[in-house]
Amino acid sequence: MTELTGLKGIGEKTAGALMRLGISCAEDLIYYFPRDYIAFGHPKEIGGLTPGTTEAVECLLTSDASINRYNGMTIVNLHVSDLTGRLQISWYNMPYIKQTLRAGSCFVFRGRIYEKGGRLIMGQPKIYRPEDYKKGYEGRLMPVYRLSKGISNNLLMKAVASVLRENKPSLLPEEFLPAGILGRIGLKGEAEALRDIHFPRDLKSLTEARKRLSFDELFMFFILQKKRKQLFLKKASEYRCRPDLRFIQLAADLPFELTRDQSEALKTITRDMSSGNIMNRLLEGDVGSGKTIVAFLAMAYAGFCGYQSAMLAPTEVLARQHYDKLTGLIGSRDLPLKAVLLCGSMQKAQKEETLRLIREHEADIIIGTHALFQERVDYDRLGLVVTDEQHRFGVSQREAMKQKGGLPHMLFMSATPIPRTLSMILYGDMDVSVISMRPEGRIPIKNAVVNPSYRENAYKFIYDEVRKGHRAYVVCPSIAEEDEEGSGPSGSFSAGLETVEETYKKLRKLFPGDIGIGMLHGRMKPEDKEAAMQAFKDGQTDILVCTTVVEVGVDVPEATVMMIENAERFGLSQLHQLRGRVGRGHSQSYCIMVNTSDGEEARERLSILRDSNDGFFIASEDLRLRGPGDLFGVRQSGEMGFLLADIYRDRDLLKPAADEAEALLEEDPELMVRDHEGIRKKLSYYMDNSYYV
Ligand code: ADP
Ligand code: MG
Repeated sequence: MTELTGLKGIGEKTAGALMRLGISCAEDLIYYFPRDYIAFGHPKEIGGLTPGTTEAVECLLTSDASINRYNGMTIVNLHVSDLTGRLQISWYNMPYIKQTLRAGSCFVFRGRIYEKGGRLIMGQPKIYRPEDYKKGYEGRLMPVYRLSKGISNNLLMKAVASVLRENKPSLLPEEFLPAGILGRIGLKGEAEALRDIHFPRDLKSLTEARKRLSFDELFMFFILQKKRKQLFLKKASEYRCRPDLRFIQLAADLPFELTRDQSEALKTITRDMSSGNIMNRLLEGDVGSGKTIVAFLAMAYAGFCGYQSAMLAPTEVLARQHYDKLTGLIGSRDLPLKAVLLCGSMQKAQKEETLRLIREHEADIIIGTHALFQERVDYDRLGLVVTDEQHRFGVSQREAMKQKGGLPHMLFMSATPIPRTLSMILYGDMDVSVISMRPEGRIPIKNAVVNPSYRENAYKFIYDEVRKGHRAYVVCPSIAEEDEEGSGPSGSFSAGLETVEETYKKLRKLFPGDIGIGMLHGRMKPEDKEAAMQAFKDGQTDILVCTTVVEVGVDVPEATVMMIENAERFGLSQLHQLRGRVGRGHSQSYCIMVNTSDGEEARERLSILRDSNDGFFIASEDLRLRGPGDLFGVRQSGEMGFLLADIYRDRDLLKPAADEAEALLEEDPELMVRDHEGIRKKLSYYMDNSYYV
């Protein structure tokens, strides 16, 4: 471990800000991979510009820029032309920029191109002196990192570059894969790949770097998976459950009747848990198919048999929702079971008390986030671990839960309908139950893909729905205007995405005061998030403006409208998940996707969603559209906990990685061969890093 403050240009304050991004030492910077790249092309002729893309033009200005005021905004406009066409260039709310743009000067402008009323417009471009552009940018791929307050992209670039250059001793890891594997798969060295993923020389070197590092992740995933299989499968369980009258009564007396698929899944699960062997089962079902109740019943089953169970959720919002529902169910039936909630953000005293309840087995069911294994939790006869939205967790995190008890039964739940061909490989070590039908009485969601000019209508529509007593989500891809790229002479620009804060302000102005509008995003304090979610559930808030924090699991049956801004920015499966937040009650629900791109591809992608509500179909279309060549495509969010690997894009690597892992473990099950030392080290890092208390 090398201290961050030992790096050039990083002081205490910056180190603190980096910590918030999860970067706590110099080595972490190496694995903080860019989320995207900006390609700086050769400046184009105006006639060759395509709407919907970001491109550069080089222009000699024949007149000064002009300034207009419109709706409280100032707009700086510049009209340029060359032999091939004319282009309008506009900047919003940056009046000072006018000084720079004088007739007679020459600049490179790089920005997003769109078309309006037959005119070609470049919006909010960055400005470069032509010689700077040629020397410093043209032909390069610049990394774009995920940022936080106090950390600019430039700063991260410099910090990463200085770590990669550091050679005394090198901070880059030694090669951990045997030469045989590198040769068979055709992979470049690890150190080279790590350099190239941050600062690719060209597209080819980036593609190769990505292949190498994705392979590493998949390979280690399979090593862990096969190890797990060796260790746990068909092992006798210490937590054998027995049918209990109270359980049978509970299952027969639910607020609704279980669907046939739910009953079937439940039957299989209870059979697994009573079989005498350890259960290792995946419960797969599209959004809204009703997985939660099945998990609740499985936990109650364990509880009646005297075992604790734990339910792991990816967000606090979701953990709390499960907790509230479960305590509601327990309370209304006066069940002799106690549930507790354990989250990282809880007050110290409250947390201590919860930990005591768990330790002394006063709590039967423990629901929480990562805190379930990160905190000092002492379980007592932990017989069942349920992981909700399991594709959100890395293998190591899931493994960690297993280490917590003796060897509890494991139930994984996933709403990502992964196509069969992939899930056979990815879940090769699990039994699978599928819920394919939805609860009765659900009306299919109506979908619309619209362009931004439809927004006003959408707001009117939301207004009408709210007046009917329904609620709406408005999802934006970003929280606030933030600086995304490096800087030109005029400072930085935002990428022009809709933001939660701006949308909130706009709606607040637009809607009458008696309509409650709330805000929810990842940068809010946990207690504020909780309050915002609660207000929406209670109906004090009618319209919730939010980021994708609501993507997983959130269940508010009164919500009937899901409006998604910049829908083209999200992956298909992610949009499908978001849409799954509505259509949960008995009223007609709607999903409005605002497409701000003019591109043909975006239109095609979104039309798939518009025309189908079937998650499996959408996943297979996702697979079709996103081939291995899809380098910059929208990524699944955190699929399987991988940093880089993408089960869709890298599907051709899945089988080779699984086969290599299998062969290696067959030849050397304990990884004792000298050549396998690197793999052993990585494995034990996964196994006993801080998750394992
Ligand atoms: P998911 O599978 O996406 O996790 P949930 O478990 O959150 O779905 O269920 C979605 C909604 O459907 C919840 O409001 C739940 O109470 C309700 N629900 C579940 N099963 C049934 C059923 N058999 N009949 C009616 N409603 C149900
Ligand atoms: Mg769910």
